[in-house]
Formats: sequence, structure tokens, C-alpha cells
Amino acid sequence: MIPRRRIRLDLGDAADVLAAAWSAEAANRADVARFEQAFAAYLGCRHARATASGRDALELILDGLGLVPGDELIVPAYTLGELLPLMQARGLRLVAADVDPRTLNVTTDSVAACLGADTRGIFVVHMFGAPCDIVGLCALAQKRGIPLIEDCAHALGAMVGGRRVGSFGSAALFSLEVNKAVATFGGGMLATNDAALARSIGRVLDARPRTEWPAARKAVLKHAEELLVRSPLYGLLLRLLLGGGGGSRFERLYRRLHDRVRAGHVAYCGFQARIGLRRLRDVDARNARLNQRWNELSGGLLAPFVPVCRDEIGMPAFYNFVARYDGDVVKLRRQARDAGIDLGVGSEVMDNTAALLGQHDCPGAATAFASAIQCPLYDGLADARFLHMKRWLRSLAGTRS
Ligand SMILES: *Cc1c(COP(=O)(O)O)cnc(C)c1O
Repeated sequence: MIPRRRIRLDLGDAADVLAAAWSAEAANRADVARFEQAFAAYLGCRHARATASGRDALELILDGLGLVPGDELIVPAYTLGELLPLMQARGLRLVAADVDPRTLNVTTDSVAACLGADTRGIFVVHMFGAPCDIVGLCALAQKRGIPLIEDCAHALGAMVGGRRVGSFGSAALFSLEVNKAVATFGGGMLATNDAALARSIGRVLDARPRTEWPAARKAVLKHAEELLVRSPLYGLLLRLLLGGGGGSRFERLYRRLHDRVRAGHVAYCGFQARIGLRRLRDVDARNARLNQRWNELSGGLLAPFVPVCRDEIGMPAFYNFVARYDGDVVKLRRQARDAGIDLGVGSEVMDNTAALLGQHDCPGAATAFASAIQCPLYDGLADARFLHMKRWLRSLAGTRS
């Protein structure tokens, strides 16, 4: 079975974890500061601060921007559903802006259509690494005098007009989770050009407890997980747990276990920063490498597959391989399993956040949710496996079933 997700492990990672245990707190703190500076320089942004997760960065931004209960925030109709409760817990009223099913991103028009008298902010995501129309959206926010938050969890390295995404809006969040481009066994990054916002968020972060233990434990557990994924046992386990219908049982179990090792509101660690610095140096090459494979897989897709258009606005970064399949995706998932490919469908790919909010006026998001599929594509995917998947996808074209 070709697993859908793999975790990148470098030989240096374990050494970094061990070294941190022997380092003085001041040395670990300095490593975090170096990583933050390198990240800001990479983005072309004035301030970057490392956080406990991407979600943590989002919460810090929401609080730092002074959004209060009753304020209305525009969010994408198709994105990670787990973000909604963080916003709702602050009493924000969420309005979903529809996405274009060709790009899976919101558009300036779809966001403009949601603006109302009570709108106090715009939250956008650069979905699956493809930049949304951030220039048009920022102009819209500026005209209304409201903040715009960029979710760049998928889009580290993506560019619009020669500028990196994450440097356009009022503030941006990045994720350093194991499945993201610069993976440091959890963590996140918050970027902003607003000195006052950076200062107030910095005060919160500097007061946090410093402990390397939660992240170190996660690094150990994720190493164990990856060893299991690379063993022959994994295919068997997957078949067992995927048994029956859509097979989201495995996904739920995986996410539950994964969330249990998520760090709380603690400081980002020194060893994570050392791993991050190493991976940040490689991020452009990684984007180029995997985007080339993305294009190769996507280029030959015929109906009922629909490739996602990613370069309409700017240069995309790589996150996952996603396409649309205008047919029975649950059946496709079963066929994939029989061909030895762990394909993701439905909420395993992303959520219909409009529907989660009880909003049924977003046909683009409904189409995206019903037809999006995710195939395994990552560094370390063997050539033979890549070819097998490519041939399998092509063999199905024209067979709508
Ligand atoms: C991964 C992700 C985040 C942040 O996730 P964390 O796991 O909290 O680091 C935010 N938005 C989207 C769209 C994501 O995929």
C-alpha cells in the first residue's frame, strides 16, 4: 500500500533533539530567535515569531488584532474545519465566502459579496499552495479599513508578483506540523509587518513556559509512527482499518492520536528551531521538485478527472497532490485501495466549512468537497510507486462509473 502521508525524518533530527537536552536555556532561546529572523528574511516580512502550532498563531492573531465577540469575520467556504471553533470560541460571527471550484480558492468577488456593515475582518487561505488573489483581496480590506489574515499553512514559498505570500496581509500564519513544508514536529510561525502587533504578541509568547519535553515526546512518537508506515505491517493494518464503506474510521483514529501529541500553549523549542533552519534552506528546492511531479501527474489527467488550476494568480508552493474527480469518489477510493494506493476523499482532503456553518449558498465549496481527491505525493515517494499511480490514474480516465 502506498501510504497517503509520510513524515520527513533526517539523520540530523535525532541529534538535534538530544543536543537540546544538554543545551542551556539561553542557547535554545537564541536558536529560536535565529530561526525567526531567517523566516522573516525568507518571507521579506519585518517580524516573524515562532508559536506552538499554526492554530496557536491564528489565535494570537485574532486576539492581537482586537477582534471581539459579535464581530463578523469572512472565512473561506472550503478549508480546514478545525479552525472554526477557535474563531467561534471568541464569539466571532463567521460568514463563508464561496470558492472557485477550478482553483479551490476564494476570489475577490466572492469575498466582496460577503462584506456587510458588521464585517470586521477577512480570513483567507492559499489553498493547497496555490496563491489566492491576495492583491485584490488586500485592496478590498484596505478600502474597508479592516484587517486581512493570510493562512499560509500550505503555501510557504508561494509568490505573487515576486513577493512571498504571508507578507501581504495584516498578519499571516504558517504551520510547522509534520505534514507541512518545513516540518519541525509541530509548531507554527506568525508573520507581520505591523510593529505594534508583533510587540503585543511577542509579550504573550515571551511569558510562556519553556519546556522541550512535549515537542521531544512528539518527535519520538512521530519517529515510531514513520517506522511503522515504512514497514510491511502498515499495508495490512490499513486494509483492516479501512474495511467497510468509506473507511474514515482510520482517519478519525489517526487524527485523534495526532491531536493528543499536539503541544499546548508552550514556547517553541530550540531543537525545533535547529531542524527548521535546516529545512527552510531546502524549501525552494522542495517546492520545485514536488511541483514538477505535481504537474506530471496532473498534466495527463482526463475527464472525469479535473486538474486543479494553481498558477492563475502566482507561483504555487507544494502541499499535497489534489485533483477533482467528477464521479463516485467513494467507489474510486475503494478501487484505489485495490490498486494499493491510499487515496483521500471528502473531509480527509479538506472541509466544506460553509456547510459546517449551516450556510448552503456556496455551490463552489459543495463541488470542491464532493469531488476533491488526494493522492500520495511527497519527498521519498519511490519512482516506481509514482509511475504506478500515474498509470492507474490514466487507466481510469474516461470511465465515469
Ligand atoms: C495545517 C493547517 C493549519 C495549521 O495547523 P496546525 O496543525 O495547527 O499547525 C491551518 N490551516 C490549514 C488550512 C492547515 O492545513
